[in-house]
Amino acid sequence: MDQSKSIKIILIGKGYVGKTSLLLNYTKGVFVDTYQTTSEGLERRQLERNGEKYNISLWDTAGQYLFHSILPMYVRGANAVIMVFATDSLHSFSEIDDWKSKVMKRGTNEDTVLVLVANKCDVQRMTENDMEQLATFGGYDLCFQTSAKTGENVNRMFEETIDLVIERFGDNLQKRDIDLNREKQPKRGSLKCTC
Ligand code: GDP
Ligand code: MG
Repeated sequence: MDQSKSIKIILIGKGYVGKTSLLLNYTKGVFVDTYQTTSEGLERRQLERNGEKYNISLWDTAGQYLFHSILPMYVRGANAVIMVFATDSLHSFSEIDDWKSKVMKRGTNEDTVLVLVANKCDVQRMTENDMEQLATFGGYDLCFQTSAKTGENVNRMFEETIDLVIERFGDNLQKRDIDLNREKQPKRGSLKCTC
């Protein structure tokens, strides 16, 4: 019998910001330079923490589908939501708030770990101050600057997200309650930024 607890993590963000690349870097340790709109899917990874086994499922999809009817299914039961934008595209950041409120209304609760990721930091880097301000204003729990190309902060981003999920959900990982209509309230003062 599989004794592992399940953790569901979803990645959200505009197309081309690097969601699939971040996942592939974390789960397979590779970086693919060509853009493949069809490569979205589900990646799995197992890990152990304090003698306990966890099955991590990482959900990735093409941004445009999220506006349609599959959004509730995609979001339902997510323990962590990773919102990704690209540092070289202001446009990709300006869409984040809209996505976030759509997502948070559909199947998250106040324990859901909310992560802000500024990807492509090898191309352009934000100041730590700017990142912290964006993350604090948006009520995020964690924020990171990453590069799926060089691997900077990628493992750290996923692992710290997973650790916070385990801390928050603990024994309730398989039988958590999902409140479909309650929007997560920011937990002030608890932001951790890695830039
Ligand atoms: P998605 O649509 O959000 O899944 O984006 P992809 O992961 O498919 O990446 C889109 C494009 O950006 C691809 O050409 C990637 O090779 C490239 N890319 C992704 N992450 C990075 C990064 O951190 N740095 C750089 N320089 N390019 C990246
Ligand atoms: Mg993709």
